[in-house]
Amino acid sequence: MRVDEMGQPTEAARVPGTPYVADGKLVSTSPATGAEVGRFPVAGVPDVAAAIARAREAGAWWAELGFAERRARLLAWRARIANRATELAAAAYAEGGKPKAEAIVEIFSAVEHVNWAARNAKRVLGHRKVRSRLVLVEHSAHLEYQPYGVVGVIGPWNYPVLTPMGSLAYALAAGNAVVFKPSEYTPAVGQWLADSFAEIVPEKPVFQVVHGLGETGAALCRLGVGKIAFTGSTATAKKVMAGCAETLTPVVIEGGGKDAMIVDDDADLDAAAQACVWGGLTNAGQTCIGIERVYAVDAVYDDFVAKVVERAGKLTVGVDGDDIGPITMPSQVDIIRRHIDDAIARGGRAVLGGPEAVRPPYVSPTILVDVPEDAAAVREETFGPTLTVTRVGDADEAVRLANAVSYGLGGSVFGKRRAVSIARRMRSGMTAINSVLTFAGMSTLPFGGVGDSGFGRIHGDDGLREFARAKAITRRRAPSVLPAQTFERSEKDVDRLVKVMKILFGRPR
Ligand code: NDP
Repeated sequence: MRVDEMGQPTEAARVPGTPYVADGKLVSTSPATGAEVGRFPVAGVPDVAAAIARAREAGAWWAELGFAERRARLLAWRARIANRATELAAAAYAEGGKPKAEAIVEIFSAVEHVNWAARNAKRVLGHRKVRSRLVLVEHSAHLEYQPYGVVGVIGPWNYPVLTPMGSLAYALAAGNAVVFKPSEYTPAVGQWLADSFAEIVPEKPVFQVVHGLGETGAALCRLGVGKIAFTGSTATAKKVMAGCAETLTPVVIEGGGKDAMIVDDDADLDAAAQACVWGGLTNAGQTCIGIERVYAVDAVYDDFVAKVVERAGKLTVGVDGDDIGPITMPSQVDIIRRHIDDAIARGGRAVLGGPEAVRPPYVSPTILVDVPEDAAAVREETFGPTLTVTRVGDADEAVRLANAVSYGLGGSVFGKRRAVSIARRMRSGMTAINSVLTFAGMSTLPFGGVGDSGFGRIHGDDGLREFARAKAITRRRAPSVLPAQTFERSEKDVDRLVKVMKILFGRPR
């Protein structure tokens, strides 16, 4: 949002769908109609500091409850969200423009994560005895994962339930309190999540929301929480890390993406085309793990493009009930337009849509072919319902081109014989074979990227560990045989140490 020196939005910012601040309140509006959705108090630095202080105390209480009680509360929260999913979907539609059917799919995936995190936290993070090594056999070894206390969660607007939930549910299950800063574009959804949690955990403010613009998120980074879980653009991620560096606050970064799909010559082309259209155009293409580039091998290229164009051409664009809703952030329309125009100026062709597909706040499906690899549409995150489809000689060339961008979030492969080997070679944190985006809903698997897409993992065992510190404890159970940890040793003792070391480690195998 553009604001003046007083923090007020400029006139330019008051376009439908752009939130603005009035009388200290963040005003959320619909990108489709401009209608006001709600007003939320903007948290300044003192408010964020106070929220963190409250969270510290609440976090200690929540950690003390133990895994079993936290599991019970989180499962009750899961049930509350599932039973009121249509209400939450309505909020996501109202302020994000997301078609309600798509919001329901998102919420379904989010409750799966709450469920899994609640049920698996004790197994992954709870105390366990680990094996002692021979040289320290007189000590037992113990491991447990302890919460950070307070985790700050900063979320984006595009999946306002699922993306923060990948941090919220796992951080809460690990025993942390959370302070959540939702995107300024989706404060109502963030508030709904916190309010519904408070109905299940009314005793202490274990899950709080702070609203505002970037400055509110920046304050959260600087005020000494135990960890920051950031999901958003790579550019903002760098600012978040710089802020966190001041207090050496650890971060997990879920950044942007430019995910590719590779279509090999033995792929089921109908399945590939169907998946490609959904994976690229769902949520109007505003998906971090959305397919933005496709590399199809020469032998199947023409058939594949025809099938994609046929399917994408049938999608309807408009208000709720249509397949493709409005672009949530009005400013994103300019980026999408630039990518399409640049692709065509460089010799690309629109086989569906094109410059005329951009009719703010909507963009119709656009399929671009013959786009050079250095075009913005191939290298930068477009975040719109557009796809580039590029002809390649073979799967090796596809992998090389897919890997030639700075991002490395997810990806997809359609094929049979070489599919697993291609999936392994894709430079990304996750790859789906013969489907798209599947890994996001697979709560047993870690989610996260490489390169400009970030680091650290949410979801799965790794996602639980991300929100807890490993605590190692040793406990003596007998006197030491080898006099290593004492000054009270003789030369003979040292000779024994040398001898034992040679016996244990002196051979090359
Ligand atoms: P932004 O980076 O613009 O914002 C993300 C969050 O950071 C918002 O809550 C924002 O607040 C906040 N913020 C802005 N400035 C600062 C700051 N200086 N310090 C701390 N926080 C700040 O991303 P978008 O909301 O536009 O989300 C889209 C991006 O998110 C895309 O790049 C997409 O790929 C990525 N994404 C990644 C996912 C993943 O799992 N890897 C999942 C979903 C999206 P405010 O909104 O008030 O500016």
